Amino acid sequence: MERIFNFSAGPAVLPAEVLKQARNEILNWHDSGMSIMEMSHRGREFTSVAQKTEADLRELASIPENYKVLFLSGGATSQFSMVPMNLLRKKKNADYINTGMWSKKAIKEAQRYCHVNIAASSEDSGYTYAPTQDQWTPDLNAAYVHYTPNETIGGVEFNWIPDLTYSENNIPLVADMSSNILSRPLDVTKYGLIYAGAQKNIGPAGLTIVIVREDLLGETIQNTPSVFNYKIHADNFSMYNTPPTYAIYITGLVLEWLNKKGGLEEIEKINISKAALLYDLIDTTDFYHCSVAKSDRSRMNVPFTLKNTDLDAEFLKQAQDHGLTQLRGHRAVGGMRASIYNAMPIEGVLALASFMKEFANNHA
Ligand SMILES: *Cc1c(COP(=O)(O)O)cnc(C)c1O
Repeated sequence: MERIFNFSAGPAVLPAEVLKQARNEILNWHDSGMSIMEMSHRGREFTSVAQKTEADLRELASIPENYKVLFLSGGATSQFSMVPMNLLRKKKNADYINTGMWSKKAIKEAQRYCHVNIAASSEDSGYTYAPTQDQWTPDLNAAYVHYTPNETIGGVEFNWIPDLTYSENNIPLVADMSSNILSRPLDVTKYGLIYAGAQKNIGPAGLTIVIVREDLLGETIQNTPSVFNYKIHADNFSMYNTPPTYAIYITGLVLEWLNKKGGLEEIEKINISKAALLYDLIDTTDFYHCSVAKSDRSRMNVPFTLKNTDLDAEFLKQAQDHGLTQLRGHRAVGGMRASIYNAMPIEGVLALASFMKEFANNHA
């Protein structure tokens, strides 16, 4: 069977080239006579894969030397706890920006460890925008500021990086980049810590990437389990316990694929055109609607509704018949959502846009 265009929010589409290479190497990786899945994580072969994956990520995202790259498991959800456990550093307050369901989950978990000051929120509007900094009420003494640069469910993306120089306390900025990491150039120096589950824009489920400035490590809250301590993972090159080896390997292949595409500047251009194809169509018909503020629309997750919601089921059915799948919106918000991560080819977006146009014409 041909591959179809998969608009899933995550786990999500991977480059076909990567999957083919993985298929070719699955029984016998580089003449080792073994699958990469069967190897010791501490052996020479796998160590070389992990090291190259880290080196490629460092190069692609220009990660400075004073940042550690950690390959963990537990998903982005584990980071909702690990961030406060490791970054509170004797403080009792942290700032959170609430722009959607993922922010909210991060907040809820952080509240187990500290007082959370919601420095800004778009919840009242139904999460349709990213509050600009003049709308923030930050705590100048917060241990850190946490935000979600791309809200995967609501489709709200920050097209700017918060500037924390309003405080002289050198507050670290923490970002949950699960759904937009590597979709555009990244200025790591603006952040204290970046984390991302791999299964949206980087690779398969199971791997969680953390990029953290070295000087923030070493002080955890009391009774922090070793496996939740960044410093222990950093000191052990992410081999304190068994890392998700196969997910790291596939991620490595995805990074090589990204490099071949020309890196983050090039992929950003493609992502801008892909998103524009859908938003332009949505805005020029009366048939579809997107409630997110134009300046804050996500390039990765395009949520939209049909003005006549009675047609939702028919839309999804016909889309499926056209080889366009996983377009149903998140169960919490309804409507449709097209996730168009790096690995979604422009052909897929063109096919979706053309189907949407046709569907609108046939049902006008
Ligand atoms: C998917 C997602 C998560 C949760 O990731 P898990 O790997 O399931 O823990 C957290 N934050 C954002 C922004 C996401 O898109």
